[in-house]
Amino acid sequence: MSSHQVAILGGGISGLSAAYYLARHGIDCVLVEKETRTGGLIRTEQLENSQLEAGPDSFLAAKPAVTELASEIAGLPERIISSNDAARRVFIVRNGRLVPLPSGMSMMVPGELRPALVSPLFSLPTRLRFLTERFRQPQQRASDISVGELVRDHFGDELLESVADPLLAGVYGGNAASLSARSVLPRFVEYERRFGSLIRGVQHEKKSPTAGSLFRSFSGGMQDLIDALATRTAASLLTGREARAVYRDGNCWRIQLGGETFAAEHLIVALPAHRAALLLEASAPQLAAELAAIPYSSAILTNLLYNSARLENPLEGFGFLVPQRERRTIAAATFVNRKFPTRIAPGLFAIRAFIVGAEAVRLRAAADNELVRLAENDLHRLSGISSPAQTALVHRWPDSMPQYVVGHAHRVDRIRQLSAGLPSFHLIGNAYEGVGIPDCVRLARSAAENIYSDIKSK
Ligand SMILES: Cc1cc2nc3c(=O)[nH]c(=O)nc-3n(C[C@H](O)[C@H](O)[C@H](O)COP(=O)(O)OP(=O)(O)OC[C@H]3O[C@@H](n4cnc5c(N)ncnc54)[C@H](O)[C@@H]3O)c2cc1C
Repeated sequence: MSSHQVAILGGGISGLSAAYYLARHGIDCVLVEKETRTGGLIRTEQLENSQLEAGPDSFLAAKPAVTELASEIAGLPERIISSNDAARRVFIVRNGRLVPLPSGMSMMVPGELRPALVSPLFSLPTRLRFLTERFRQPQQRASDISVGELVRDHFGDELLESVADPLLAGVYGGNAASLSARSVLPRFVEYERRFGSLIRGVQHEKKSPTAGSLFRSFSGGMQDLIDALATRTAASLLTGREARAVYRDGNCWRIQLGGETFAAEHLIVALPAHRAALLLEASAPQLAAELAAIPYSSAILTNLLYNSARLENPLEGFGFLVPQRERRTIAAATFVNRKFPTRIAPGLFAIRAFIVGAEAVRLRAAADNELVRLAENDLHRLSGISSPAQTALVHRWPDSMPQYVVGHAHRVDRIRQLSAGLPSFHLIGNAYEGVGIPDCVRLARSAAENIYSDIKSK
């Protein structure tokens, strides 16, 4: 039976970055991944000389962890590309038509009043709310509330239904009624406490704008990051092996893979919370119950490649969001040529169409061609594309997006306390302190640093 200093379970970006940071310190680790490939939700497909992202297409530039990681790896910094923010406009479907979100919006908060006051997206009562919201007094809520309650309280139902809810569906695969204001929009909760008004908070923040583009990616797609990390940690990868259980045995952790078991001094669990819960059911039932209680939503992503010469409309902006009352199948679409123009071969136009939440669950067993047909129907209805896609790829991501529901921060506190009671145990991933890739890398780095300090101090 083999023994290692560290075992990492899960070979998505969280597990791979942890392996990278440990390897950098010369720490011996083994990473167990149940699929035959690493990368988890990150995967770039090459098709017709174009790069199509099966999962995430970019990372937020404002959160530095990915850029810092890439800067350490030879060849990667030159491959970082920026989103084409000159074309950054997002449309919202209203009465079956695409209407641009007014400029100056920060998520669902109008940072510039003028464009919001003349936008056809909003009726007179909502415009009046924009004017009066600026005079609210600072307020500290006694407890967490939903994003829906926060937005309704400040701006009313129309902004909630037409902007906030579709935005949250697009980013989190969730809905405003259940997602936690404190965990999903901590910035706005802070503005409410400091300024009373969210509009004034956003205006204050805009006085110190961050330089550069909003999103970044890599010239070969997000896969560039995975490939670079996998190469640097190749010696320690155990792919095609599923961890079944973990338990403490004397001074080490034992990891059970089917019939075989191996030992490690430290354990990093880099899995979706519901998968981590299964492993810990017997050895840490209370922690497992808290992990299992984090809900997840599902997504189906359809990449459609069109012959650009056959597209009737110009298809401007980064894409559009579909409010619930306008929705048939897709909740959002991204126009890849506008966001990352270098990704798509000349003469082609790529659209990522997202099906999320209950609709993704309902359609989970649908055939690929049926999903493509439904996405095409919506694109025809909403953007006037009548010719069929010349190629399409469908990726299903069941139970992939953790939902930070009301009370999430308290649950994470309990999870951290229970984890701290387990020696040399580290939980990382997107279920706790941020759903994006930079948050995953930040947690992975911090777990690796903690392990390094611990090993060094002995
Ligand atoms: C459709 C979609 C689009 C997204 N877009 C963006 C975006 O543009 N930007 C952004 O920042 N974020 C985005 N995200 C979120 C981002 O993809 C995730 O936060 C991130 O990839 C999570 O990485 P992870 O390593 O924590 O988990 P995962 O990628 O889920 O990796 C977990 C790994 O664990 C493995 N595993 C599971 N059980 C076991 C077991 N028992 N034993 C061994 N291995 C196991 C899995 O096979 C998987 O490889 C998106 C998510 C989705 C679903």
